[in-house]
Amino acid sequence: MSDSDTGIREIRIDPIVPSNSVLVATARSMRPMKEEAPAPRDTRKHVDTCPFCRGNEDKTPPTIATYPQTDEWQVRIVENLYPVLGENNTQDNLSFGLQQTIEGYGRHEVIIDHPSHGIALHEMSIEHLAMIFKSYQDRMSDLYESDPRLKYVLAFKNFGPAAGGSIPHTHSQIIAMPVVPENLFNEVENSYKHYQKHHRCIFCSLIDEALTYEATIYDRESGEVRRKINVGQYVIEKNSNFVAIKPFASRYEWEIHILPLTHQADYLQATDEDLLSFAQVLKNSMARLEQVVGGAQYNYFLHSIPHGEEHDDCKPSYHWHLEICPRTSIPNGFELGSGLFVNTISPEIAAEKLRSVDISDIL
Ligand SMILES: [Zn+2]
Ligand SMILES: [Zn+2]
Ligand SMILES: [Zn+2]
Repeated sequence: MSDSDTGIREIRIDPIVPSNSVLVATARSMRPMKEEAPAPRDTRKHVDTCPFCRGNEDKTPPTIATYPQTDEWQVRIVENLYPVLGENNTQDNLSFGLQQTIEGYGRHEVIIDHPSHGIALHEMSIEHLAMIFKSYQDRMSDLYESDPRLKYVLAFKNFGPAAGGSIPHTHSQIIAMPVVPENLFNEVENSYKHYQKHHRCIFCSLIDEALTYEATIYDRESGEVRRKINVGQYVIEKNSNFVAIKPFASRYEWEIHILPLTHQADYLQATDEDLLSFAQVLKNSMARLEQVVGGAQYNYFLHSIPHGEEHDDCKPSYHWHLEICPRTSIPNGFELGSGLFVNTISPEIAAEKLRSVDISDIL
């Protein structure tokens, strides 16, 4: 990297959750982390012993749904064999002093993303990607309706061993839980506070900033130019309904967030047309990651407004999005101990690379 020696070194505060911060340290000597070597990707189409491959349906727990509803399924949803949260937890909540617990009640499901064992997201068709995201929507609304004790339904994907992917066949997961997870809660709370002060959704404002090519800050007294900022530099991919941006305070070197361009708090409100549009931005963004990082192992997860009346007030201030977090390094003691993420590539340079790479030959 050309910026390695001079480098930047600054702590960036997350605009949405200010208690989240990241140390952007690009000088080579500042890299405290071990680089994770990319694991070779399993590109096989079919594996006889794989429980998620077509024809092995009897090797998984029962099917919850398939898309379409035939044996020639394209997406298949099953119960998780090893649920993190389960249905039949009858143990009473036990609390001793400062040790509080909440019953580990919930649902855990697996979405088999594609019949083809080792296919990467950027290799799937836009229609197929939209079908996967439609299946998340269907499961989320079913689960919310099935039980008021479920406070949040998280859809996520772990891809590759460094990202916690335990089964090589491409899949994602749904966990319905009895609490709103803390990082989502912080986003909802902080964006609500921002709204009360500025009467505007902070995500919408960040999108506007990301789309503005240049901003000039003038000195109020003298009228002199104080600073010119090139803010369009955070956009990676865009169509008429969605945008993929590189967050200014990215925790991970190649982190990308995808958001709807017009304000929408609830992912369940995205139409089929929206999902197709979203799928196009996702496919291209993943192709860009493939070209720049090559075989990236990653996590992605959906953040949407939690259901329940108590969150209705936050509908004008919250804005659903997908966070894609490629795992190119392993967190070390400094990160775990300080809670400060270390990012060794400047987000501006990472965005420039992702935006300018040619993806035409892999789509
Ligand atoms: Zn398989
Ligand atoms: Zn918004
Ligand atoms: Zn989020």
